[in-house]
Amino acid sequence: MSDFWNDRTKNLSPYIPGEQPKDRKFIKLNTNENPYPPSVKVIEAIQNNVNENLRLYPEPECTELRKTIANFYGVKTEQVFAGNGSDEILAFAFGAFFQSNCCDLLLFPDITYSFYPVYASLWNVSYSTVPLGEDFTINVNDYKTVSGGVIFPNPNAPTGIALAIDDILSLADFLVKQKKVLIIDEAYAAFGADSAVPYIEKYPNLLTVHTLSKSASLAGLRAGFAIGNEKLIEGLCRIRDSFNSYTLDRLALAGAKAAVEDRQYYKEINNKIIATRQRTAQSLTEIGFKVLPSKANFLFVKPPKINAADLFAALRENGILVRHFNKERIKDFLRVTIGTDEEMDTVIACCREIIGRN
Ligand code: PMP
Repeated sequence: MSDFWNDRTKNLSPYIPGEQPKDRKFIKLNTNENPYPPSVKVIEAIQNNVNENLRLYPEPECTELRKTIANFYGVKTEQVFAGNGSDEILAFAFGAFFQSNCCDLLLFPDITYSFYPVYASLWNVSYSTVPLGEDFTINVNDYKTVSGGVIFPNPNAPTGIALAIDDILSLADFLVKQKKVLIIDEAYAAFGADSAVPYIEKYPNLLTVHTLSKSASLAGLRAGFAIGNEKLIEGLCRIRDSFNSYTLDRLALAGAKAAVEDRQYYKEINNKIIATRQRTAQSLTEIGFKVLPSKANFLFVKPPKINAADLFAALRENGILVRHFNKERIKDFLRVTIGTDEEMDTVIACCREIIGRN
């Protein structure tokens, strides 16, 4: 606390990202990064742009990148927004579409991406959380009520559980009649969930948010995008251009474009991750873990015989970093990012050994 902070700053409870260790080589499975490198074409594209043009500002509308994304998804360039990671786009979206200090509450699940309440308080958006079912699934009917809008990830994080597209569309349909926005955060959709992108024409209130951090192995580049009706995209631009016109630098624009273009490479590595996820889920189940059915690049698991916080600490001792959320309902679980086959073999062996001791 400082006397120099204004009330807004004093009242914030900022998001705490997963640890990025500097001092020790860990098997790092705590922030859902992709274990495989980015496409070589991405590296080449970035290298080709390390030149004197860095003197010049980047193109603020990110037109070339947006065209490439539009082409990939079969939508119009005007239906695409590009941003500095999907976190930035989510922050803009909260500011653009959800009312401040309003009695119609924004709704999101009680267990979900923990940045949502942070953005809500930054923009003074009043919200209410909707409990997931006993089995940690989202029931869309719980959201069909008077509200200020709805946001959740599909698949949800940190559970990894995906919703069927028909459920999402029935909610979009309900909310469009209320003139409220539905944001589907598709950060992990490339690992097996249905995308809502094909329905943005039908539902002008539907915004999908995407990141290159996970499925395109580019967490370090900071690039994301949103797809939705032209008017939603214009709303995001109004917020961005009231804040910082140049959110993506020249290198990020070049790298992101090359990533979207190299579908084949990313399909291969992400299929590998899906296969490793299935194998890991099976092995952990055999050891006695409860493993939630994941369509993401992580597993949400409850260990047998040992509590999750102790297993987290024991794994850390053994050089394996996973994520533990000390939060009601999920404090007995760990979120384990899917690494390479070799890394997951180490995790499985280590879990077997620690649990055998207990
Ligand atoms: N949405 C969800 C559900 C996430 O888990 C993350 C990663 N922490 C993000 C969005 C943000 O990803 P990025 O800012 O790296 O694009």
